[in-house]
Amino acid sequence: MIYKRVYTEAHKRIALVAHDNMKPDLLQWCVTHKQRLQQHQLLATGTTGSVLEQQTQLPITKLISGPLGGDQQIGALITEQKIDIVIFFWDPLEAQPHDPDVKALLRLAAVWNIPVACNIATADMLVSSPLFDTPMPRQIPDYDAYLAKRL
Ligand code: PGA
Repeated sequence: MIYKRVYTEAHKRIALVAHDNMKPDLLQWCVTHKQRLQQHQLLATGTTGSVLEQQTQLPITKLISGPLGGDQQIGALITEQKIDIVIFFWDPLEAQPHDPDVKALLRLAAVWNIPVACNIATADMLVSSPLFDTPMPRQIPDYDAYLAKRL
């Protein structure tokens, strides 16, 4: 793959998702880091977003609920360069009906070199990074070069 360097802006677009058993953990994390989170644009899958918005008063753009396609929506936004960070507390102890969608989302985050936190420790590292609210250099696939090679 040929890569190019881009800069993620200081003001980040952050996707928040938690499976049902993990929603209390994500809620607690958002309460703890509310000051830092409110400087950014927040998006979430339907139920996660509703719970977080209700309990924290943070403004959140709500997508479709995960099992109905919300994870796929986040994946699509990643390919369009409209998501900069993913905080996804997926449940390591329970299978989900939409596990293929979860895997697809995590795959696209890897393809597009998006910082992803799947647990509290990693989310804490991300939020305490100086890059959390400053421009962040990042390598992404060079799509024009990719296409030119294939044509
Ligand atoms: P939810 O979806 O926020 O609608 O619960 C999350 C998920 O299960 O992927």
